[in-house]
Amino acid sequence: MVEIECLLCEKPIKLPKYIDTENYDGEVVCQECESLLYIKLVKGKLQKRRVKQKGFRRFSAEEMASLFKILAEKRKELLAEERKREEK
Ligand SMILES: [Zn+2]
Repeated sequence: MVEIECLLCEKPIKLPKYIDTENYDGEVVCQECESLLYIKLVKGKLQKRRVKQKGFRRFSAEEMASLFKILAEKRKELLAEERKREEK
């Protein structure tokens, strides 16, 4: 289990389940202060972490879920494209 501390409130951020801690490069929102952070995880280790937006607008749980779904899908698309390129 990868633990990431928020840069602003220093509370641990619970990573959504879809995040692949072996390889993740994207946003995560702190549940405590709702700041948007950019993180990069490689093999379960935090490589990069920076604040993207302080006090991220309060989204409802549904909005948040759909936002992350979009991000996750975009990521999948990118990975699929990368794979295609590698196959050629
Ligand atoms: Zn925070």
